[in-house]
Amino acid sequence: MTEVQEIEQQKQYIQKVAKLNENKNLTYHILTFGCQLNENDSEKICGMLEQMGYTQTDKIEEASLAIFNTCCVRENAEERLFGKIGELKNLKEKNHLIIAIGGCMMQEEHILEKLKKSFSYVDIIFGTHTLHKLPEDLFKVLETQKKVKDVIDIDGNVYEDLPIKRNSKIQGSVTIMYGCNNFCSYCIVPYVRGRERSRKPKDILNEVEELASQGYKEIMLLGQNVNSYLRSEMEAIKQGTLKDEAGDYKEINSFAKLLRAINQIEGIERIRFVSPHPKDFTDDVIEAIRDCKKVCKFVHLPLQSGSTNMLKVMNRKYTKEQYLNLVEKMKAQIPNIKFSTDIIVGFAGETEEDFEDTLDVVRKVGFEQVFMFIYSRRVGTPGDKMPNQIPEEIKHERFNRLKQLVESQIAENNQSYLGTKQKVLVEGPSKNNEKMLTGRTESNKVVVFEGARSLVGSMVEVKMVEDHLWYFKGE
Ligand code: SF4
Repeated sequence: MTEVQEIEQQKQYIQKVAKLNENKNLTYHILTFGCQLNENDSEKICGMLEQMGYTQTDKIEEASLAIFNTCCVRENAEERLFGKIGELKNLKEKNHLIIAIGGCMMQEEHILEKLKKSFSYVDIIFGTHTLHKLPEDLFKVLETQKKVKDVIDIDGNVYEDLPIKRNSKIQGSVTIMYGCNNFCSYCIVPYVRGRERSRKPKDILNEVEELASQGYKEIMLLGQNVNSYLRSEMEAIKQGTLKDEAGDYKEINSFAKLLRAINQIEGIERIRFVSPHPKDFTDDVIEAIRDCKKVCKFVHLPLQSGSTNMLKVMNRKYTKEQYLNLVEKMKAQIPNIKFSTDIIVGFAGETEEDFEDTLDVVRKVGFEQVFMFIYSRRVGTPGDKMPNQIPEEIKHERFNRLKQLVESQIAENNQSYLGTKQKVLVEGPSKNNEKMLTGRTESNKVVVFEGARSLVGSMVEVKMVEDHLWYFKGE
């Protein structure tokens, strides 16, 4: 069966489940762990569920279906997930709750074992390659009351045209590629999400155009390694294993060209992307960021470590100097470009000197935001098998030192914003004060300010008047 036929089949299952659920006023509760790709997957899960007659509820005790979309990047996500599934046991008995668990963690053998042993009351288990089959799995459970385990281990396909219920009406996430070929030694993602494969440019452009027509202003392009978009496909065309008979890749055959094409779409005002890999940051992408007005001059550029030794152990395929040169090159070519990054502290074998190199890069680049992680071992990765693991107290001590440096840099950097006027995309009322509005600058700074509700969804000029480290007050 082709991918298109598979989706057609799932649409029939959507109808079948909707028929079974008719006039029942059923609700679902969804909990998403992990990254923005997972959030985007959850939007698709919600889209399918709503077409099957379920409406979303925040109250799990009222739900007829509980669905957890899992992540396996952090260790504590495992504990949190098992705790949450444990809490559902009573509700299962009391409300005949259907429990479905899916996503990255379900691709791990030891997790499946644990579920089988300790949580046998889970109804549906689906993996990253079978998310689109949720309608069929749910239909089987409703019809037969039997448990369904639908996890496969493949390189992965690309499924288009799944229903979607988006979390925001202003910012839309668009996944442009799936999987990863990089095998960084700390990371589990390539093992659970398969190899890199990209969506066709026309499917992405159609999705962005649709978002623009619905009034979306900001697009976030998602992928594990966005700047190798279409690389595998181009390689396959070169080798003759893929034929571009329909001319799908004739005009757009790279990430840079995709950025340029999206930049042309009327109505969209901001384009962001996560995550690029520094080793794949080619000149054409730098030029596209420079030339495209709508592409934010704010790049998330994962560093992970500032030590060339550690980067080698991490299998990142760039050195400290190459990273710094890339930043310098971008700063020289793109006026006012700003950066955020990810850093892992305490990876196996990290010496004090290695850690000092990380601090050095942080000092030199002056990031706007740093997402800091204490290394946690993931079963099945090379990092987990490395003998020279760092004691927890050293990891924590280094983490705190990094945090201190980052916070002092951000506090200092924030001063340069005070008194300036920034273009802010208004997202909605502030969570802490309903009377205020909140939005973000191009460099992703949160700004809270007074204003009419009618401004939500528009781009306004805000004067930055007060700095609160992680947000500004504006006027
Ligand atoms: S690039 Fe490295 S860190 Fe990112 S998903 Fe791939 S393996 Fe993981």
